Amino acid sequence: MAYFCLDCFNLIEGTNLTYEDVDCDMDFCERCGKNTNCVVSVHKNSEEEEDM
Ligand SMILES: [Zn+2]
Repeated sequence: MAYFCLDCFNLIEGTNLTYEDVDCDMDFCERCGKNTNCVVSVHKNSEEEEDM
């Protein structure tokens, strides 16, 4: 499974999530290669169902 940092995740998904919207873990981002907080899951809000 690929992990992306929040910046890359938002770029790829076309979203504008914050760290409050996601669960993160330290890992290497698959896009920019940084060892940083990577998105492991997104909190689902009833108002913000995004196409995954
Ligand atoms: Zn990244």
